[in-house]
Amino acid sequence: SYGFETVGGREEKQARVNEVFHRVAERYDVMNDLMSGGMHRLWKDAMVQWLAPSRRPGWRFLDVAGGTGDVAMRIVDASRGAAEGTVLDINASMLAVGAERAVKRKLDGNLLFVEGNAEDLKLPDGAFDAYTIAFGIRNVPRIDLALDEAYRVLKPGGRFLCLEFSEVELPVLDKIYDAWSFKAIPAIGGAVAKDRESYEYLVESIRRFPNQANFAGAIRRAGFERVTHRNLTGGIAAIHSGWKI
Ligand code: SAM
Repeated sequence: SYGFETVGGREEKQARVNEVFHRVAERYDVMNDLMSGGMHRLWKDAMVQWLAPSRRPGWRFLDVAGGTGDVAMRIVDASRGAAEGTVLDINASMLAVGAERAVKRKLDGNLLFVEGNAEDLKLPDGAFDAYTIAFGIRNVPRIDLALDEAYRVLKPGGRFLCLEFSEVELPVLDKIYDAWSFKAIPAIGGAVAKDRESYEYLVESIRRFPNQANFAGAIRRAGFERVTHRNLTGGIAAIHSGWKI
């Protein structure tokens, strides 16, 4: 059993998540590569490709739980430098790593790094052409509030895309994945980040997140239309798409 199971309410959940990402911020991207065998890069590229960002100047996107800006930078690259993005995250340590990297990559003119909560964006209605969130929504205590906010800040005609771990739909892969996530990930987390417990928490949060169909239902309830999803690597991750019509 995991120590964090005693953690009850949503404030505690958010506090726990904040602590985890504060601790891992500096090593976050390296750890991602190790934990996913580099696959998170392919999955993020698949999301950006499905988004097909416009190359029209003034096309605006919001990347929520954007962390170190990895997805946002891929979106700007795919738009050939046209897109203007806001990277929003609740964790200042993650944002600081991202802002520094944006300067190094000369993308600081395209990207704004903003501290904020996915459940209460404090951004104007109808401001963005696209809303993206990658490996973020399962950390948000009230997913429905986050989805309502996504809908609110999008322009009519705007696109919602979410990349998240999901339910493995291949029986053999499922077994391998279980062994990987319950044994290897906490072990790597312990050895490399000296923080086994945080990684146990992350694995558990993946297990608790709704499967493809249930999450699609939640997106529809927020008002989105033409909701579809694509599985990646047999359902280890999935991308959900919806439109604000
Ligand atoms: N999107 C980035 C990526 O794919 O590399 C970062 C993903 S990281 C696994 C999850 C991020 O969600 C962390 O940076 C964390 O601070 C952020 N987060 C957690 N709860 C949040 C909330 N309520 N609002 C906004 N961001 C949140």
